[in-house]
Amino acid sequence: MRIITISCLTDNYAYLIAAGGACAVVDPSEVGPVRAALSREGLTLTHIVNTHHHGDHTGGNLELKREFGATVVGPARENGRIPGLDVAVSEASGWNFAGHDVAILDVPGHTLGATTYVIAGNAFTGDTLFSCGCGRVLEGDPAMMWASLEKLMGLPDDTKLWCGHEYTEKNAAFALTLEPENQALRMFAQVVRQARAKGTPSMPSTMKLEKSVNPFLRPQDAAIRKALGMADARDAEVFAEVRRRKDVY
Ligand code: ZN
Ligand code: FE
Repeated sequence: MRIITISCLTDNYAYLIAAGGACAVVDPSEVGPVRAALSREGLTLTHIVNTHHHGDHTGGNLELKREFGATVVGPARENGRIPGLDVAVSEASGWNFAGHDVAILDVPGHTLGATTYVIAGNAFTGDTLFSCGCGRVLEGDPAMMWASLEKLMGLPDDTKLWCGHEYTEKNAAFALTLEPENQALRMFAQVVRQARAKGTPSMPSTMKLEKSVNPFLRPQDAAIRKALGMADARDAEVFAEVRRRKDVY
């Protein structure tokens, strides 16, 4: 299985997943860069997979579907909001792509139907989990989003994470305001800065790395709690406060 990162719009990522004779694109916000990547790689699109209904993740659906006759796969809970949806999936339905079982994780919060697809140790998290960050809580509430992130943290540490946006450098700068002494985070911020200066994507991350640098996955951390003055709060409350601060960062 091969995964190819495609930069779209300003800071979106679409991904090609090529396996056997099949090729899926995850979250095609626009057609041009996806078409270019397909022809560069000599691939024919068979599937379009959406993590959630936002236009910067589905904008290319209809044109790619028309051009390639690709099957559109998306969250059943967003049926009616995903352009061209053919196969509505849920945690219960699962999915199969090119002979690989795909785990479907319901991760509401950013949107109510937000979905993460896990295929052969690769998680496509859309706008739920970012590297060193997480999506804004637009349709759900913070407790719901925290439960979704906890669900993702249950994935094996070596799971590769392919996120919906390149927000990593700014996320790391925010994280350092909460945990200036976190050595793993400091090193990570530097590595990301250097990579981005060369135009290199910060994807994929891994669950193991995120657990050590991502403040949204670390509400139990004493330094973060101290920075927030929330020594005795519940994890979900600490998460909500971190999210609130990032919203205005
Ligand atoms: Zn979104
Ligand atoms: Fe987005």
